[in-house]
Amino acid sequence: MKVLLAKSAGFCWGVSRAVEKARSLAREGRVYTDGPLIHNEEMMQQLQSEGISETDDISNIGTAKLLVRAHGIPPERRKQLNASSAEVTDTTCPDVAKIQGLIRKHARLGYNIIIYGDKGHAEVTGLLGFTEGKGHVVTTREDILKLPDLDPACLVAQSTQFPSSYKLIAEEVCKRNPDAVILDTICEATKKRQSELIEMASNVDAFVVVGSSNSANTVRLLELAKSLKPALQIQTADQIKPTNFTEFHTVGLTAGASTPDFIIQQVRTKLEEL
Ligand code: SF4
Repeated sequence: MKVLLAKSAGFCWGVSRAVEKARSLAREGRVYTDGPLIHNEEMMQQLQSEGISETDDISNIGTAKLLVRAHGIPPERRKQLNASSAEVTDTTCPDVAKIQGLIRKHARLGYNIIIYGDKGHAEVTGLLGFTEGKGHVVTTREDILKLPDLDPACLVAQSTQFPSSYKLIAEEVCKRNPDAVILDTICEATKKRQSELIEMASNVDAFVVVGSSNSANTVRLLELAKSLKPALQIQTADQIKPTNFTEFHTVGLTAGASTPDFIIQQVRTKLEEL
């Protein structure tokens, strides 16, 4: 079977930066991450074998090195980390840090902050912490109708949302708050990955999206792929079943921002062998 690999498949620059930093610190000694550094179990296992592991109890790690994850954390959590004995290094993606700064600035100007994102996702939890108590998370247009009166309002998106869905959310917010400030906070890496998928659709019979189902951008890539062609999400090459591909000659292969290159290559090889 012919496989077209998306140029944007795999680690985005924010994830690469966090992983490289963790690896460079691990050469000097044990490294802990405050929650999963990235949302990919295979990569977290690989990192564990290199001396980098996740912890949810910083009181047990003494003066070890501790990394703030690429998704960022709320200011309150940062205070806790800084008050511990651990040596803290921040690997928050600069694109996420930019959204945090915009939220804080607008909250201090008196705006109520509406965050379009996945409730409970680490990045969204972090962003909510910068709203200074004036934040609301929405995931659907219906959620906006349930909001209290929020004037003035400022709308931001989690970095990995769909630009097209964000536009619809922004229109809904503007119906309620015509003067709302709408900030374009979807990161370029996400936009590029999604637009490349759309461009590939005319040249492939189906899509394979590689990544974990707890990775927000993988889930959205799959959603987009399914709207264009038959699409399948897998986490590793072992999950490829030849019977799923008997009707296809050319498959488009893409992967979420936290999928490591070694898994993408294993999937590519296995698909090409079919
Ligand atoms: S998806 Fe975008 S915001 Fe998230 S880590 Fe990657 S570059 Fe940064």
